[in-house]
Amino acid sequence: MRKNNRRNQFDVPQKLKDNEDKWEQIAKGELSKSEISDSVYKGIRQENGVKIYEVRDQLKEIFYKKCAYCESRSNKPEVEHYRPKKEVSEDSLHPGYYWLCYEWTNLLPSCRYCNTEGGKGNYFPVAGQRVFESPIENDKFIKDRCKISATELLAEKPLLLNPEVDEVEDYFTFNVNGAIVGADAENRGKETIKICNLNRDDLLQNRQGVIDAHLNDIEDILKGADERGDSVESLYKQIKRKLERVKDGCAEDQVYSLVRVNILSDYENLIISQLQTDNQKDFVREAYREFISELGI
Ligand SMILES: [Zn+2]
Repeated sequence: MRKNNRRNQFDVPQKLKDNEDKWEQIAKGELSKSEISDSVYKGIRQENGVKIYEVRDQLKEIFYKKCAYCESRSNKPEVEHYRPKKEVSEDSLHPGYYWLCYEWTNLLPSCRYCNTEGGKGNYFPVAGQRVFESPIENDKFIKDRCKISATELLAEKPLLLNPEVDEVEDYFTFNVNGAIVGADAENRGKETIKICNLNRDDLLQNRQGVIDAHLNDIEDILKGADERGDSVESLYKQIKRKLERVKDGCAEDQVYSLVRVNILSDYENLIISQLQTDNQKDFVREAYREFISELGI
């Protein structure tokens, strides 16, 4: 998961705007929640005889064609309701956040695995006061109170992190086997991992692959050094070039970029600890220190 602040650069999709009256009727209970239509929140419409998914595709663009939760490539993401629209698994008395069904900021792009299969489903645990009712004042539906940043929604203190609200990078670390680990005292990282099943096999493998790729690069440099007769200076240069590649892979549009961010911030644990000899460890540690000091961070 990576922090994302791009939504305000995009307009609310037209299909959501076109259905504001329906949305209000659902929010007021004049229409039942069974009337919530996926063609609206996915933004499906025909354009020159072609079916397009306006909402889905806009979310996809905002999140660089990645799942908002696991950072896997997702070219046809599901349009996921951060707050579930029809029921809340933890609370059988809760009707679901039906009044948020067409709220743009409640929608995130998600891969199928994070959203449904063994993933989030209708789970939405909170540590604070859960909101049970649609925001109706004097028979008027108050859309501002539906926004992800609305005071009463923030006061719910959701355990599931939201990449547009929370400084999500602060909540996770990784192990050498690619496992993601919660890092905060309130356990929001840990809960998010559990809710979205972020340590499923394919993700473990892919993230370990990112760590191993860099480790192998470093080992190859060290292995061939004597045969090639490389100078210390040249070896440092080669290692720093590989570190530069890791840094490029930290860009938010790259898949599993948070692993690379952690490789750079937790290099001792993720890379150096895996090197075979103390000499190698000392050598690579020094090259890494130079790299970091040259970055000025
Ligand atoms: Zn995912």
